[in-house]
Amino acid sequence: MKARIADIKSMAIHDGPGIRTTVFFKGCGLKCLWCHNPETISSVPQLAFYETKCQHCLACAAVCAAHKAAELQHHFDRGSCLGCGSCVSQCLQGALQLFGTEVTAEALLPRLLEDRAFYETTGGGVTLSGGECLLQADFCAALLEALKKEGIHTAVDTCGFVQKAAFEKVLPYTDIFLVDIKAIDPQVHKACTGQENGMILDNIRYLDSVDAQMEFRIPFVPGCNDREIPAIRDFLKTLKGSYNVKVLPYHNYAGSKYAALGMENTLPPTIPTEAQIAEAEALLR
Ligand code: SF4
Ligand code: SF4
Repeated sequence: MKARIADIKSMAIHDGPGIRTTVFFKGCGLKCLWCHNPETISSVPQLAFYETKCQHCLACAAVCAAHKAAELQHHFDRGSCLGCGSCVSQCLQGALQLFGTEVTAEALLPRLLEDRAFYETTGGGVTLSGGECLLQADFCAALLEALKKEGIHTAVDTCGFVQKAAFEKVLPYTDIFLVDIKAIDPQVHKACTGQENGMILDNIRYLDSVDAQMEFRIPFVPGCNDREIPAIRDFLKTLKGSYNVKVLPYHNYAGSKYAALGMENTLPPTIPTEAQIAEAEALLR
């Protein structure tokens, strides 16, 4: 069984307890305006071209017609790119990066175990993230089961926009779910993410009913979901379990990634102030 992933990052400190290694899966059913991992939204491989790093050496043009030479300048014809990744190793400037490689759980496990010393000394472990990792739930379940057999702490970072069956598959092998709540009003949710949130809230209620450990993450995005905090608080109060809740201040650092991927930049313009974040945290507390 194979999964398509965008990246693997070691030394993560915001993806669950301790120091963690995070696997970013490709594909997501939501399209959040503020997404800071746009390379994970599409399920297909994508080549990122960082124009400012390009030295116009044209080494890439030697291996693929999608890279063209015009007056000794490099031009990337994205429409001709198949996402095979063959050109990436040609570029010594790091201007090309492929997001979307296929891996097996058997190949991924040894890579994740390389960081075991960090997990053991900090109470960390492995986090499956994305994109929405649970769109590839069978693979996640197999990988999480293998990690648990190795004694590794496991976390699933999810937007919740998947069928309940996906949660049922990974539940036995997941120590904690890191669950986004972006809005309670379905129309606000749809305006911000492209989808209503009924399935997400049902999945949260399901995880609560089976005593799963959860941590909630609330991205705070002025002009998008900043008025949803009281409704989120009221929803959380209906759950029977006690959970950590974190407010994640929106940032717009991902702008260059949208450009490199040839994607429309949907990042909202306004960054929250410290006072706004403090107010949201106080409301939730
Ligand atoms: S990823 Fe493959 S198809 Fe796309 S530009 Fe590079 S070599 Fe060509
Ligand atoms: S190999 Fe890299 S630096 Fe050279 S032209 Fe291609 S993208 Fe630019």
